[in-house]
Amino acid sequence: MRLISKPTTLPHDRIDKDALSVVADLQRAGHVTYLVGGCVRDLLLGTTPKDFDIATGATPKQIRKLFRNCQIIGRRFKLAHVYFGPKILEVATFRGRGSIALGNNEMDAEEVIERTNLFGTPEQDAKSRDFTVNGLFYDPIARTVIDHVNGQPDLANKQLRTIGDPFVRLQEDPVRILRAIKFCSRLGFTIEAATQRAMREYSRDITLCPPPRVTEEIFRLAESAYAAKAFSAMIQFGVMESVLPEVYAFIRAADRDVPFEKTPYYRFLSGLDRLATINGGVPRDFLLTTLFFPVGIHFSGLKGNPYREWGSVFDEWFRAVGIRMHMPTRLRSRMRAIVDLVQHMLAEPIPSRPGRTRTVLRDSVFPMALCLLRLHVQSYAEGAEAYENWATLALDHGIVASPEPSSITAEHQYKHTGTKKLDQAEEPTADRNATPPKAKKHHRRRTKQRRR
Ligand code: ATP
Ligand code: MG
Repeated sequence: MRLISKPTTLPHDRIDKDALSVVADLQRAGHVTYLVGGCVRDLLLGTTPKDFDIATGATPKQIRKLFRNCQIIGRRFKLAHVYFGPKILEVATFRGRGSIALGNNEMDAEEVIERTNLFGTPEQDAKSRDFTVNGLFYDPIARTVIDHVNGQPDLANKQLRTIGDPFVRLQEDPVRILRAIKFCSRLGFTIEAATQRAMREYSRDITLCPPPRVTEEIFRLAESAYAAKAFSAMIQFGVMESVLPEVYAFIRAADRDVPFEKTPYYRFLSGLDRLATINGGVPRDFLLTTLFFPVGIHFSGLKGNPYREWGSVFDEWFRAVGIRMHMPTRLRSRMRAIVDLVQHMLAEPIPSRPGRTRTVLRDSVFPMALCLLRLHVQSYAEGAEAYENWATLALDHGIVASPEPSSITAEHQYKHTGTKKLDQAEEPTADRNATPPKAKKHHRRRTKQRRR
């Protein structure tokens, strides 16, 4: 089934100009090409997409011939990255549902893929996507929406529904459960009943998925101002237990009669969400430190300990969590730096050593540490004196609490600018086609293939 809408007036000023030109160039060269996935969903919902994915009938080799600023990535399923400065546009050939014939060394990888039908038709591609609202295509030249998956009525009704049987689609890739939680928290969608049942059924299987993919989805669901809602839904669907066991145990350790939405941790997450709204997102080092800060205090036995004794205990606890979640080392050391400053402020509520105080104020993560301390004070009613004194001192030096570091370097430009960032694109990913998570183990070492 294919439904093509009448010419649609989607707001082209919300579409990345380079994405439009890539689609136009591919179409001019005779290849069917569309904008696909999340960007079409967001445009139809009237919001500005954060990145633009393109799917085409052209093979990676054909794409490379057309664009000089292009690199082919991926081993099993190859796709093209087209570079525009720091921005990357992902251009993928329509996917089919075949599997690779192994053991024939005579054929080159592209030939194998073509012969065994890993590339497919637009319809097969749409049907291999996760949810109906994510399976829509948009042709920005003809200005038409192409709907192979009945996504438009679901979008109109704000319903999240898997494409095909949810019990099959969520078992073949349980990361989709986290994605469902992300979309329902972020977009305010309801999840269709059978999809909900399947989410509960396979929630434990998320532990079988490659940790970097799971961690990436946790980042995504927490960073866009809906952490409190998303964490609530993770508890409701039995996902928290497997995905963030430390956070789950921390929440369970609180008063059982108090619903999660009434706990200080929920207040804390809501504060984080407010910051993300005001700031247009928060950097991942700040996000991570914040999510785990109250949990770390609880489990590293620091509650009630003098702040001076925190140092290495906290660090060890954070390190273990970071390793389990496959956090990049760079992120872990930034977490350490932020926590160290919070510890210093709590241990020295009245800044009394001028030399040390100057060093603290000059530290690039100081505004983040002060911001985290403020969240902590607001939710846990602890450390108010330290916050007041340090905030006043900071203000005298023209520094305000902020989730951003004080001197933004290229490395730390995390704000959403409507494009994929280099560091996101480099994260290890798994492919979208149906392979049970266990069988994906041998693909884990791939570092440059897309998230699906
Ligand atoms: P976000 O707004 O968070 O970027 P998104 O829907 O754009 O959400 P991406 O991870 O950017 O998600 O993926 C782009 C598209 O690729 C999705 O809209 C969906 O069509 C498809 N996709 C992504 N992950 C999966 C998956 N695990 N299974 C099937 N399809 C997927
Ligand atoms: Mg996207």
